[in-house]
Amino acid sequence: MAIRKIVTQGDDRLSKKCRQVTDFNKRLHDLLDDMKETLEEAQGVGLAAPQVGILRRVVVIVDDEDNMLELVNPEILEQSGEQTGPEGCLSVPGKWGMVTRPDFVRIQYQDRYGEWFEADGEGLMARCFCHEIEHLDGHLYVEHIDHFMTEEELEAFYEEEEARGEER
Ligand code: ZN
Repeated sequence: MAIRKIVTQGDDRLSKKCRQVTDFNKRLHDLLDDMKETLEEAQGVGLAAPQVGILRRVVVIVDDEDNMLELVNPEILEQSGEQTGPEGCLSVPGKWGMVTRPDFVRIQYQDRYGEWFEADGEGLMARCFCHEIEHLDGHLYVEHIDHFMTEEELEAFYEEEEARGEER
């Protein structure tokens, strides 16, 4: 396993449409292992293959229970609801922006051996699925924002969030 270099906004590979994975071989397994190690090291929530310069439909995500999910050829089957909150990206380091996403998403994906699965995501997981799958089509979250959030805006959001949580 090896840590791969994360490419940042402006790199061509982040704006390309990635190809389907058709061979579930050692090369794919090495890529998944490296991506998991790279994500852990970067302390992120999700990483898509184009972010390490590989134009394949492969994503790794840390789920609600702190497990690493491997998503090969993931696709959104269903989505509903709406949520608005701050979003960041390892390819746009140190920045945040308010993005509106569906609140519920159902996806289908393959594992490293090619077997098909479905998964549901709510809240942060739904946001994460949308963000990562979008990477595979060459899109970044910054396309959905009108400005990067200031420290004050970010703090205000989390204070409000906390206040809302206490009311419940
Ligand atoms: Zn990202």
